[in-house]
Amino acid sequence: MRLLFVRACTVALMKDLMSSFTELGLAEPLLRAVSSLGYEKPTPIQAQVIPKMIAGLDIIGIAQTGTGKTAAFVLPILNRLANQKLGHVEGPKPGSRAFTTLILAPTRELAQQIADSIREYGKFMKPRVGLVVGGANPTPQIRALATGVDIVVATPGRLLDHMRSGRARLDQTSQIVLDEADQMLDMGFIPAIEEIMRKTSAKRQTLLLSATMPKPIRTLAQAFMVTPEQISVSSVAKPADNIRQEVILINQADKSERLIELLAQREVERAIVFTRTKRGTDKLEKALNLAGLQSVGLHGDKTQGQRNKALAQFKSGARKILVATDVAARGLDVDEVSHVVNYDMPTVAESYVHRIGRTGRAGKSGVAISFCDHSERGLVRDIERLTNLSLLPGGSLRRDEQPRRAKPRFNVGQARPAAVGRPRSPAKPRPAARSL
Ligand code: AMP
Repeated sequence: MRLLFVRACTVALMKDLMSSFTELGLAEPLLRAVSSLGYEKPTPIQAQVIPKMIAGLDIIGIAQTGTGKTAAFVLPILNRLANQKLGHVEGPKPGSRAFTTLILAPTRELAQQIADSIREYGKFMKPRVGLVVGGANPTPQIRALATGVDIVVATPGRLLDHMRSGRARLDQTSQIVLDEADQMLDMGFIPAIEEIMRKTSAKRQTLLLSATMPKPIRTLAQAFMVTPEQISVSSVAKPADNIRQEVILINQADKSERLIELLAQREVERAIVFTRTKRGTDKLEKALNLAGLQSVGLHGDKTQGQRNKALAQFKSGARKILVATDVAARGLDVDEVSHVVNYDMPTVAESYVHRIGRTGRAGKSGVAISFCDHSERGLVRDIERLTNLSLLPGGSLRRDEQPRRAKPRFNVGQARPAAVGRPRSPAKPRPAARSL
């Protein structure tokens, strides 16, 4: 009797959990997939994007990583594919070597991750996915395009190469996702994207996702989208509230010693350390390993094989510290990153939001620590302006503050948490920051 009751409750609970995804109108194999992944209900961006994508609308989504945005577009893409297979919607002509959906991403790593997500969410329907990225052998890509795929996940440069050599046809591609559009802008991909968009079907549905909305992205949207619906899941460039942010004022020469102290702390489960230069990444990786902290480096000069290996070691936990340039700042989905350290402050304020977004994912809490030497204070001020948060210990700097040469008087353990989530109030007088 009791067992029956428990079973009835479990069934009721399962129904309840499923219903929220069910209400979004997703096909049964997708409901099974999300349920098997333990997703209880759609995240806010999923709840908003999925029905609109199913309805065929163009959408601009302002969302950071960690919000569940990948599933927000992958699930409706797979849903459409399921309907296409059932003959409910039209797809490319059989044998035409065309593909229905194109997803563009700025980096190979992000493209790989999206392709992995498609396989994961599509595990009960086996979509054919083509990964078309630079730095990888083009032959398997050419073979996949020739054999036929449903969805292509690509970086813009390599896709253009295949298009120009006639190996990729986009005339029947009717669904396009531009993921991390602002990073694609930073990387100079806009002309390539425009060329790609011009070659796709006129009856195209476009989804543009971006953490920020700079003017060139708005212009791109105006040129290629039809009355797009705008969805914003958090205010532009606002770090998630569950990330505790600390800024440590420090001399450049003391940074590596301080970093070693910090990473040796027990609460650091898995950390990403951001540096400005590739050489800086190599040097720091070496120093950390010498100090007995198992680290691995990731930057744009590494071969694709080295990059994949580094990520795999970090993801598996074999190396608990990833030292990286901004190439790793966006999109990477690694669970359990407890700490992000800005060893060098990012030169572009938006990068700060992306970098620290590597922690505090999927609702977990995280810590972001930024090392700021005197020359980097202006960068922190830019970040404060962008995020509307007060980050520097003791409040923001006065413009006329002069540097002093003394060493910082406080240690890592004393670093003060910044007032996260506390909006800056310009009316209040601020004490000058601690001097260096
Ligand atoms: P993303 O923003 O796409 O990088 O996703 C961040 C993380 O959230 C990934 O690890 C996903 O597996 C996870 N995730 C996505 N959707 C859900 C959901 N509805 N419930 C719980 N976790 C989710």
